[in-house]
Amino acid sequence: MLIKNSINNLGTEKAFKLLSDANELIAKGKDIINLGIGQPDFRTPKHIVEAGIKALKDGKHGYTNSIGLPLLREKISNNLFLRHKAKIETGRIVVLPGGKPTIFFTLLLLGKKKSEIIYPDPGFPIYESLINYCGAKPVPYKLKEKNNFNYKASDILSKISNKTNLIIINNPSNPTGSIFEKIEVLKLINGLKEFPNVSILSDEIYSEMLYQKKHESFLSYPELKERLIYLDGFSKTYSMTGWRIGYSVWPKKLIPYVEKLCINNHSCVNTISQYAAMAALDGPFEEKINMMNEFSKRRENVIKKINEFQCLSCQYPSGAFYAFANVKKTNFSSDEMQNKILNEAGVALLSGRSFGNNGEGFLRISFANNHKNLNKAFKRIKTIID
Ligand code: PLP
Repeated sequence: MLIKNSINNLGTEKAFKLLSDANELIAKGKDIINLGIGQPDFRTPKHIVEAGIKALKDGKHGYTNSIGLPLLREKISNNLFLRHKAKIETGRIVVLPGGKPTIFFTLLLLGKKKSEIIYPDPGFPIYESLINYCGAKPVPYKLKEKNNFNYKASDILSKISNKTNLIIINNPSNPTGSIFEKIEVLKLINGLKEFPNVSILSDEIYSEMLYQKKHESFLSYPELKERLIYLDGFSKTYSMTGWRIGYSVWPKKLIPYVEKLCINNHSCVNTISQYAAMAALDGPFEEKINMMNEFSKRRENVIKKINEFQCLSCQYPSGAFYAFANVKKTNFSSDEMQNKILNEAGVALLSGRSFGNNGEGFLRISFANNHKNLNKAFKRIKTIID
């Protein structure tokens, strides 16, 4: 068998490996508390589940339009207007099986060999993985702890060269929970006037998971219309990770290519999830609001608990549901800390190195677990580090 070389450039998301390692330990009878996971630990709201069941019962289980049901795309368009004051034609909206395919398709379209792609480090590992897979050159920009990991336009603009084809942004960020504040968004857009051929992929999958601060979406800027790919979805906001449904907004000229990619790859998103997604957008929103209120309380508790350790420190994330804790004073590397905490304390969390070289010295702690388990996890960690 002769396998293509490029497949060796593909990376991975270590959260999935950690999940299987943790499950293996659980199967062997170990009591593991999982704080490594990137999915809300809440049930999908009842009315959404019921809409999925109803779709099945009503016989709505065939293929749909490859880029998504027109009515769902209309509802997404209305939702984007409410959230970001963006008037988006339904023809530019593509429904996809989760958020990840948008990253993949963007890189298939724009990851030209030897072009440069700028992306956040620490950041979601799939960006770097797919940049490498496509044969483009990964150019990381650092999210700095001294700025609470928030984005600085100048850090991004300074990385642009005549080979830059794409800038990737993730706002709010996984793993840091940091954001792109309006003043910096404006500076970036202003700076990009000089580089009309540089596109943006703005991954805003956590844009409805916010604490206090307002979210500034790149979609709110019509001047970016011809060069912005906006990624969003249902996985996190509505606790629907396993339903596999997300969506993106594309420049009009890319839609025929994206449509072909959909037809070649998955034909369409499963119909049941599309009906469920419509119910998600229709509301009621009580369960979604309750989930965020609960995350907010956990955030307070988790950050307080981390800062009680002599050798750990952590800033408050502005969004998402992760704490990015500084572990440099422990004198262990991030990977060593991750393994030590898993094997000696029975707590699964992720080494900052899973998110790039600049993640060294940090651990990502997900608060997608209940208060009882979170408290128990910190008590256990306390027995092995101070
Ligand atoms: N983008 C970011 C920043 C994420 O953290 C994730 C999931 O963890 C995704 C995209 C992918 O989401 P989905 O599960 O909908 O594919």
